[in-house]
Amino acid sequence: MNITLEEAALGLDKDIEVPHKKTCPNCQGSKAEPGTDSRTCPECGGSGQVRQVSNTPLGQFATVRPCRTCRGEGQIIDTPCKECHGKGIVKNKSIIHIKIPPGVEDGSRLRVPGEGDVGTRGGPPGDLYVMIGVKQHQLFHREGSDLTYNMPISFVQASLGDTVEAPTLTGAVDLKIPAGTQTGTSFRIRGEGMPHLRWNGKGNLYVKVKIVTPKKLSPKQKELLTEFAEISGQEIYAEDKGFFEKVKEVINH
Ligand SMILES: [Zn+2]
Ligand SMILES: [Zn+2]
Repeated sequence: MNITLEEAALGLDKDIEVPHKKTCPNCQGSKAEPGTDSRTCPECGGSGQVRQVSNTPLGQFATVRPCRTCRGEGQIIDTPCKECHGKGIVKNKSIIHIKIPPGVEDGSRLRVPGEGDVGTRGGPPGDLYVMIGVKQHQLFHREGSDLTYNMPISFVQASLGDTVEAPTLTGAVDLKIPAGTQTGTSFRIRGEGMPHLRWNGKGNLYVKVKIVTPKKLSPKQKELLTEFAEISGQEIYAEDKGFFEKVKEVINH
C-alpha cells in the first residue's frame, strides 16, 4: 500500500479490500451441506491412512499410504456443501480496517492478526501483512523523523536579510533570514518534521538556503550593481580571509 508523506505524518485509518481464503460460512468448514452428515470412511476406519502388508521372500513389509476412498480425510461426504463444493473454504474479498500509525516509515510491515488465509484442514487463519510504501515528496526529503528541503533566495535577501514564508508539511511558517546569510546555510524549524514512531514529539524541519545568481539583469540593475562593485572595490566579504591569502600564494608561485 502506497501512501503520501502527508498521510505518513498524520497516520491513516483506512478500509482496504483484501482477497483471501476463508472458512466456508455455509458449512463452517465441515465440507458437508448443512443438515447432512458425513460418515466415517469404511476403507480406513477414519484414520485417512491405509496399511498395506506385502509378503516377500525376505519377509513381511508394511507400507502406509493415504486412503484413496476418502483422499486421506477419514470422512466421506455424501452431500458436499453447495457453497464451497465440498472444499470447506471459499475465496472472497474482505474489507479490513487498518490503522497506520503517524510517523510510519517507508518499507514498514503492518501486521493484522487473524486476517490471513484460513489454515489447511480448518486450522486457524494466518495473519495479514500490509507492506507500507511512502511516496517521495516533491519538496521534502525525509531522514528518519527529520525533513529537509532546499530553498532558493536572492543574493539581495541573503545580503540584507528578509523574512520568508517557509512551507511545512502542515502549512507555512515565517522564517527569518539574517543579513549576511551564506549559501548552504541550514535553518532549523523545531517540531515541523515527522512524528516519532515510538515516542511522542516530532522531528525537525531543516531549510537549506541556496543563493540564486540572477541570469538576466535590466540595464538599471546592471548600473546599480556596477556602482556597488565600485564602492566595494570588488571586495569579497568572506569569513575566511585566510583563504584568499592562500590563493595569492599559490598563484604567485
Ligand atoms: Zn461449504
Ligand atoms: Zn478412508
